Amino acid sequence: MEIKPFQIDGKHISRPFIIAGPCSAENEEQMLSTARLLVEQGIKIFRAGIWKPRTKPGGFEGVGLEGLEWLRVVKYETGLKTATEVANARHVEEALKAEVDILWIGARTTANPFAVQEIAEAVGGSGVPVLVKNPVNPDIELWIGAAERLISCGTENIAFVHRGFGAYEKGLFRNQPQWHIPIELKRRLPSLTILCDPSHIGGRRDLIYPISQQAMDLGFDGLMVETHINPNEALSDKEQQITPELLERIIKLLVIRDKSEPSEYLADLRREIDELDDRLLNLLSKRMSVSREIGKYKMEHNIQVLQPLRYDKMVTSRIAQALGLELDEEFVKQILESIHEESVRQQFEIINKLGLSQKLN
Ligand code: PEP
Ligand code: MN
Repeated sequence: MEIKPFQIDGKHISRPFIIAGPCSAENEEQMLSTARLLVEQGIKIFRAGIWKPRTKPGGFEGVGLEGLEWLRVVKYETGLKTATEVANARHVEEALKAEVDILWIGARTTANPFAVQEIAEAVGGSGVPVLVKNPVNPDIELWIGAAERLISCGTENIAFVHRGFGAYEKGLFRNQPQWHIPIELKRRLPSLTILCDPSHIGGRRDLIYPISQQAMDLGFDGLMVETHINPNEALSDKEQQITPELLERIIKLLVIRDKSEPSEYLADLRREIDELDDRLLNLLSKRMSVSREIGKYKMEHNIQVLQPLRYDKMVTSRIAQALGLELDEEFVKQILESIHEESVRQQFEIINKLGLSQKLN
């Protein structure tokens, strides 16, 4: 699948591309006053949720159709382009009728291929760009699959939005960033445009800036930030919404490092990394061949494969060694665990093979 860089009015976007506006449309005054302040800062795209997917019934579920009219007022009074979330074909039809400029598919909807297909068909060849938020579960194939459905129905102008992944354990973040997932996405689809939504990742105002800076350092193209004229009174996601003034200060603080032209020094460091990785892979390969040899020996001498005491001793001594080498304990534990798992798997493989050939002979 080929994904083209995201465009607005036929032009490539420049970094950082910012989409800002309230979590939810609440009333015309809230929409217009927020939008006017955003325009003063040079923001070009205004977001607002009209239909809100809530975890439990009874919360504020969005104002519905009426909100689309407010979005139209914002568009014509301020010149901002508008964006809203769609979760089914009816939403798409209503939003297109109201001349919404950009649609987005929310995290809960991306996780549902039936809904994504229905949306892809409804957007069809309208030419309206679509943003695809990551599914709530960390499934990169589902995320890419949503883009494939859109493209095959004629929507080529798409960008992804990283909004973090749900987890049972609540930590610092509302949704775990799991940065390796968008990094892997960029490796597989280098021309893909990816924005970061620090509001839903952090779930807290004070995390918006650090998450945004990290996204910029990782080469994200832009940000979608929930912005409310009076965040404390917001009807949804009030802990994470910020005022347009604070957004302006955050954007000014962001350091946007140039992505092009790596220096000679960086090239040298990268060569060193390539060499080290090469040695690591060769070492791993040698280690596995010793494991297979052990497997063979155990098989011939009727020794049990898994020796918990030996494994425990090995992990303890390696971790002690790792601490002296300034390596993180958790990181080393994870590596040792996966190396050990693979060794055991290889030992079983060799034992099964040998066992089978003994039986057959
Ligand atoms: C939103 O952007 O308001 C929203 C509901 O986001 P998500 O789908 O990422 O939860
Ligand atoms: Mn929200």
